[in-house]
Amino acid sequence: MSSAVSGTGGTGIHLSGLSKTFKAGRRTVAALDSVDLHTEQGVFLSLLGPSGCGKSTILRILAGLEEPSAGTAKINGLTPAQLRGQHELGIAFQDSALLPWRSVESNIKLPLQVAGITPDPALITDLIELVGLQGFEKAKPAQLSGGMRQRVSIARALVVKPTVLLLDEPFGALDDMTRQRLNLELLRIWTEKPATTLMVTHGISEAVFLSDHVAVMSPRPGRVVEVVEIDLPRPRTPDMMRSTEFHKLCDYLSELLFGRSGHGGVTAE
Ligand code: ADP
Ligand code: MG
Repeated sequence: MSSAVSGTGGTGIHLSGLSKTFKAGRRTVAALDSVDLHTEQGVFLSLLGPSGCGKSTILRILAGLEEPSAGTAKINGLTPAQLRGQHELGIAFQDSALLPWRSVESNIKLPLQVAGITPDPALITDLIELVGLQGFEKAKPAQLSGGMRQRVSIARALVVKPTVLLLDEPFGALDDMTRQRLNLELLRIWTEKPATTLMVTHGISEAVFLSDHVAVMSPRPGRVVEVVEIDLPRPRTPDMMRSTEFHKLCDYLSELLFGRSGHGGVTAE
């Protein structure tokens, strides 16, 4: 069921000895301590770990928004800077970060415009339908609920038909039903064109349902405790969530995270 970090290679996500220290006034915060994580291209990897263990920091480093203090980070053989230049990076972060003066439609088109690509109107219509925002094409972010704004940011991440997808708790703000539906849609899109994906989530069953591997992290400074292989067959279907195998994987991850009956586990400091 579990596997060690898969080799030292990794043509997909490739983090080697990644450390990050933040200076906050006189204090220094060790956010990441020598994180090693390797996947092959087109693999869906989820990150689970206690709050503050550096999950978002890993994503921000991969997105080129933060420099590591030590170690290297590459995806699909590219440095974060090279990756950004290719315009095939889809990002959806916790905070939907929409431009307030732009409509739903025009927020979704933004990454294409930045890349100098003329948006295909059919693609935009499809994406808006996909995330269930028909009728809100011309609405501004301030007129939307938090969940709706999050759905705009997911559509915006997908508009570039990404080869790399970085998702930071993308469904965190959504109600359970919307979350389930978007998980299925994300799975469908991802199956059509498997992007090298790193998703941060708090949802254990969501991680199992979507992923090829789930990496569990320790409390700050974050380290990878174990990478669990999710050997459920693809295509994944919702009925798999009721299988014994599925529940075993969820139990195992939950033990890694919280320990058996509250003892041990990565949250025990
Ligand atoms: P997670 O996403 O796992 O909750 P983060 O990656 O956001 O954790 O943060 C990891 C640690 O680094 C936290 O203790 C956080 O306070 C700290 N941290 C993150 N960004 C900064 C920053 N820009 N300046 C100072 N400390 C930071
Ligand atoms: Mg975070």
